[in-house]
Amino acid sequence: MPTKCAILVIDMLNDFIKGSLKSERFRRIIPYIKELLRVAHEKKIPVIYVNDSHLEEIDLEFKIWPPHAVKGTWGAEVIEELAPQKGDYIIEKRRYSGFYNTDLDDMLRELKVDTLILTGICTDICVQHTAADAFYRGYKIIIPMECVESLSEKDHKKGIETMKRLYNAKVMPLKQVLSIITK
Ligand code: ZN
Repeated sequence: MPTKCAILVIDMLNDFIKGSLKSERFRRIIPYIKELLRVAHEKKIPVIYVNDSHLEEIDLEFKIWPPHAVKGTWGAEVIEELAPQKGDYIIEKRRYSGFYNTDLDDMLRELKVDTLILTGICTDICVQHTAADAFYRGYKIIIPMECVESLSEKDHKKGIETMKRLYNAKVMPLKQVLSIITK
């Protein structure tokens, strides 16, 4: 059966790029994701934004992290550089994994997707937990290496190694991913 891909854009939100939890490391990946999305739109490959959307104050994550991406606020919006276009899909999540208590799995099945191209932040947190849940559900995983990042080089590498070793993720240069989706 031929591969059908979808692009997941994970947590490229104002609070992580420009707001309360911003990091210069996260900014670097913007142009690479932008290029991938340009080609995906051209090729009619589904683009799914997987966004933190937390409950104010009581959210479980705020026991661990400073408040961020509260539902309905500027901080929870996708950065304007990567703003969703008509026809893109949006999934809101309250935990690290894009699959946990969300519609993502049903949506992917209805789109007949079998391969996920994961992009966004953080490599070892939300990207990795989404990769784990994708693997459990039988999806193949591709990671364009310029399109994910974490709070430190060490955290980033740890996430990449875990996803390769445990979830059979194929990590490759963006150029190679573009050649796969355009062939
Ligand atoms: Zn969060």
